[in-house]
Amino acid sequence: MTNASRTTLTVQAMHEIDRLTGAVIPPIHPATTYARGSDNQLIGETDYRRPGGPTEFQAARVLAMLEGAPEAKLFSSGMAAIAAVVESVPTGGHVIAQTEMYYGAKLLLQRAAAKKRITLNLVEPGDLHALTAAARPETDLIWIESPANPSWAIVDIAKAADIAHAVGATLGIDSTCAPPCTTQALALGADIVMHSATKYLNGHSDVLAGVLATRAVDERWAEIGEIHSKTGAVPGAFETWLLMRGLRTLWVRFERQSASALAIANALQGEPGIDAVLYPGLAGHPGHDIAAGQMTNGFGGMLSLRIAGGYPAAAKFAASTRLFIQATSLGGVESLVEHRKPIEGPESPTPDNLVRLSVGLEDAGDLLDDIRAALAAATG
Ligand SMILES: *Cc1c(COP(=O)(O)O)cnc(C)c1O
Repeated sequence: MTNASRTTLTVQAMHEIDRLTGAVIPPIHPATTYARGSDNQLIGETDYRRPGGPTEFQAARVLAMLEGAPEAKLFSSGMAAIAAVVESVPTGGHVIAQTEMYYGAKLLLQRAAAKKRITLNLVEPGDLHALTAAARPETDLIWIESPANPSWAIVDIAKAADIAHAVGATLGIDSTCAPPCTTQALALGADIVMHSATKYLNGHSDVLAGVLATRAVDERWAEIGEIHSKTGAVPGAFETWLLMRGLRTLWVRFERQSASALAIANALQGEPGIDAVLYPGLAGHPGHDIAAGQMTNGFGGMLSLRIAGGYPAAAKFAASTRLFIQATSLGGVESLVEHRKPIEGPESPTPDNLVRLSVGLEDAGDLLDDIRAALAAATG
């Protein structure tokens, strides 16, 4: 391979030209089983698709390259990737996660704790004193998320890694909202980085997939590999191929989404009808300085607004946009808006008046006009 930049390698999906046909786009390999030669040796890299076929292996190579990882593995969803990490915790093992994090992952951890599969402590994202206090010699896994859904609190990855490693624990990070074009979580010290590839990596809201990449091919990674190939939570070949197609434009999409979100966040500061604009790219965001150091190529397209007038105003706002589509998920080319409280439920610490925006690739001025019109409808 050449010394080309990660951007170039991503655009060309690592310049893998099909050797048989010269096709510049790889073929899809839907086969589940793979023939052996007369010597009973495998002809290719695999005998069966549950651990992965040629299409999955190629996508995993691109993702490993992006993360600076020796290996990456594809899963059928982001949650399947997280579930494999949780499964790798020994029975009774101690896990530390966040009070504020992707709510599906928090529920999964709380479920495991309720069944006494693991013991669990939750700390505020970015509170390194609380993290240090919670970490102990029997801690197996520290699971962080940065920026954390949906306030976009920032966790100092390098410092969290030091805290984890001081007690011999693994640091895992859900970096879905800081894809590898902006954050190199493994280089900062994380041991395992996870993404919902459903979001920025695919970027077109038409593939469900997840990825794990590792800093070292160690015992934990072997355990995760065993879980991966035995449980078979792998994406289909067609989905994987679509993911690689989407991945080619990751850098340019993320750059545009970050620029638009920053422009919108700046424009909305002090806007009547808004109590707070939550975006790590704003100088006033509590995690801004750390974010600037570890999100080196943009702060992303995710921002949240706290709408003046509480729950009903936030509900009205989310229902009143014309361009932002009222839907869950994030990181796609189309902009989305979501009132989080009714989605996360009454137990969630998310404020009643918080709406989450995923900024897509539309014209930023159009999006800002849409937000202002919805604000007028909701609070005017
Ligand atoms: C969407 C998401 C997940 C879950 O991923 P799926 O692909 O939906 O299973 C996990 N973490 C974050 C931050 C997400 O946004």
